[in-house]
Amino acid sequence: MTDPVYIDGSQGEGGGQMLRSSLSLAALTGRAVRLDNIRARRKKPGLLRQHLTAVRAIDEICGGVAGAALGARVLHFRPGPVRGGTYRFAVGSAGSAVLVCQTVLPALLAADGPSEVTFEGGTHNPMAPPFEFLDRLYFPALREMGVEVTAALDRAGFYPAGGGRFTVRIIPAERLRPFERLTRDGALELDAWALSAHLPRHVGEREMTLVAEAFDLPRQQTRALSVSSPGPGNAVSIALRQGAGVELVSAFGSKGRPAEKVAAEVIEQARAWLASDAPVGEHLADQLILPMALAGGVFRAGVWSQHAATNVEVVRAFLGTDAVAVEAGEGGTIVRCPGVKRGPR
Ligand code: AMP
Repeated sequence: MTDPVYIDGSQGEGGGQMLRSSLSLAALTGRAVRLDNIRARRKKPGLLRQHLTAVRAIDEICGGVAGAALGARVLHFRPGPVRGGTYRFAVGSAGSAVLVCQTVLPALLAADGPSEVTFEGGTHNPMAPPFEFLDRLYFPALREMGVEVTAALDRAGFYPAGGGRFTVRIIPAERLRPFERLTRDGALELDAWALSAHLPRHVGEREMTLVAEAFDLPRQQTRALSVSSPGPGNAVSIALRQGAGVELVSAFGSKGRPAEKVAAEVIEQARAWLASDAPVGEHLADQLILPMALAGGVFRAGVWSQHAATNVEVVRAFLGTDAVAVEAGEGGTIVRCPGVKRGPR
């Protein structure tokens, strides 16, 4: 038996992603892992409710977790076989259910059959991918790798009430296909929407008016939508596409924050993407590394974050130093993966 992989959570980015990637990779490879100093660089270190939900979810699909408790900074995980099936994982707070999904889904790629998983909690949280990012960027990338995956949002969940819900169906692929995204060109498409719950209609309308003005869009091409959610909330997104290049930028309202500030934030992010020519944005870059390490492929990212650099190190700890090559060049960072030939386990 090989020694457990050791992950020191105080290294690099030092946040929840090291934990989530380690859980996914351990389940995928069948390798045991010992995590220390979990989320050591965060204001409240250790496992918060969202992380604990991800840990328990992984334990439910393959067993073998020891030490899971709120606030825990050490965890041992010796994964058993990954079982496909019907699951429901609820964060029980406004913590991001999307991040729980991003922990569980890669693991289910190694399952013995299809799965249907319902996630409950926050669906539109600052510092996490909103549901639409999963649906429009992350899942299409997995589909390009040969995974059959779809998602449906039943209810939005915003901070602080949470209570959102979405269901994901996944059929693992026998063999993954390499993923390639090096250039973007052609006509630009832009699509914008504001989601609001339990707020006056003019909030989303003001946001959409500003976004439409900023990008010279007909106002009818933007949408101010009222959504069902247990508590109030507001999220504005702009989806951008140019050939193979896709991005989805978002900003979130909160109590006392003017709609104009939310709109200005999302407009600035969209302008930054338009000013670069890289096909992969900052967040998709760090999230693609793990599935692409299995599938193989190459992409170019415009912004190389500490999250991305840290995720590369976590992937290398499980799959070997050759699993990901990173090369900084003009016009961004190129990430190359040979892929895993016969399934990771
Ligand atoms: P951590 O901070 O370690 O919990 O990781 C947060 C994860 O959420 C990373 O994968 C980020 O790229 C991702 N993320 C944060 N903000 C956004 C956003 N606005 N859109 C998409 N992904 C995001």
